[in-house]
Formats: sequence, C-alpha cells, structure tokens
Amino acid sequence: MTQKELDRYREILLEQKLKILNGGTIQAGEDLKISPDDLPDEADIASNVINQEVSLSIRNREMAKLRQIEEALHRIEHGYYGQCEECDEPIGKKRLEHQPFTTLCITHAEEREREIMHQRAQFF
Ligand SMILES: [Zn+2]
Repeated sequence: MTQKELDRYREILLEQKLKILNGGTIQAGEDLKISPDDLPDEADIASNVINQEVSLSIRNREMAKLRQIEEALHRIEHGYYGQCEECDEPIGKKRLEHQPFTTLCITHAEEREREIMHQRAQFF
C-alpha cells in the first residue's frame, strides 16, 4: 500500500472519529441501525426508559466503533494497516474504502459473521 493510500484511509478514519466525538450520531451507516434485539422485552416499561436504553446502545456501538478506528489508526502508524488478522493477506481496497477500520479480509469477515449467526441460532 502506498503512502498516499495510507494518508487517504487515515483521513477517512479521522473524519469518522470526529463525527462520533462531535455526537453527530445518526447517519445512514449500517452500524447504527437499531435492531429489535436492542429493545427490552417488557412491554410495560415507560417509553422514555426504552429511549434511554436505545440511545445507550447506540452510544455503546459508537464507543466500539471509536475503538476500532483508534486501532486502525494505530495500525497505520505501525505499518501493518490493511492486512487481514487471520491470514495476513491484504484486505481489498474497496472493502477498506467502505470500512476503513476492518481487520479482516472479506473471506474471514464472512466466516466470522457465519460463526456469530451460528452462535445466535444456538442461543435462541
Ligand atoms: Zn483473511
């Protein structure tokens, strides 16, 4: 990966970081969608409590994303950005454009997703 490309990804990451830090929460990004899992089950809970829960959950996601961004910036600084942590292969550039903080190539990202889905299926 060239220095120019690294600079570009760093720029994207810093932009995303700023967005989170400035509290500009909601955007169309898939990471911020509220799923039914985030809502408590008890139907009689006052709606403001539900709202608190939801915003807390969004906040948690943002914190998690912030950590991923920090780690990606760290990888850029230390010269191993853009490598899959499972197989050390370069992560596709299109994928990095879309998710500059990812640590997995598409193959391993899909694999991990399947594992998570599998675990969820067992849980329910
Ligand atoms: Zn991989």
